[in-house]
Amino acid sequence: MEPLRAKRVLKQHVKTDALLGVDAVPMGERPAAQPSDSDAAESVVKPAEPGHAHVPVQLTPVGGPLFAAAPPKPRPSLDRETKLRVLGAMNESEVKPCKKCTLCAGRINTVFGEGDADAKLMFIGEGPGQNEDETGRPFVGRAGELLDKMIVAMGLTREQVYIANVVKCRPPNNRAPLPDEVEACWDYLRRQIETINPRVIVTLGGPATKRVLQTDKGITSIRGIWAECKAFNPPVPVMPTFHPAYLLRAYTMENRKKVWSDLQAAMKFIGS
Ligand code: SF4
Repeated sequence: MEPLRAKRVLKQHVKTDALLGVDAVPMGERPAAQPSDSDAAESVVKPAEPGHAHVPVQLTPVGGPLFAAAPPKPRPSLDRETKLRVLGAMNESEVKPCKKCTLCAGRINTVFGEGDADAKLMFIGEGPGQNEDETGRPFVGRAGELLDKMIVAMGLTREQVYIANVVKCRPPNNRAPLPDEVEACWDYLRRQIETINPRVIVTLGGPATKRVLQTDKGITSIRGIWAECKAFNPPVPVMPTFHPAYLLRAYTMENRKKVWSDLQAAMKFIGS
């Protein structure tokens, strides 16, 4: 790596470590995380060096009534203009007028998602909160500010990633979206992923992780473990981590280190 770039990267890492409360420099390779439960539903992949294929490790699958297997969709390679056109048309003609679930009744705005249609990295959260509902933009409240800081600390800008949620309308009282609401909205997110075709997805929190990975496992047991979204062919690598809103509520050194470790894994994967 060139000295100037190395210096910039090192500076960025130090800033991020400070932001996330990391006060130590790891020595050597981080040991691969191990699933703590025996009934994992997802396949897990080991992080790979950029440019190298990742190695899938199959865990024992479980099923669930919500997760009826659907044939994986091929991931087409579209140019940026086509992606923008596809996403814009979906938002205007389908999502904005959508009444597929009862969440439409309480919304001010739908929150489609935003960012680079060609993004290598896609963040997926659970749903809009009050600020998002009022503005029609994802992650603009306090949790959004923290996510912005994380993105900057990763050496990226918000405009270089894509940010979306599993539901496009605000659940009442900021509750987690219900399984039937997530299912009603899934096709929009699936088509967003298919169109953007990111190299890696970082899921933020339990509801997003459960739907993207089609698992019923809790976020605490699977965060930090590489997995795959098998709705696509080839599957999309997924790094599950805590939601920034949870991190704000439980702003402990341990949690911040965990999230930073997950983000570092995603950065390494995309060669950032
Ligand atoms: S949450 Fe999704 S499925 Fe439900 S009304 Fe909004 S856009 Fe439609």
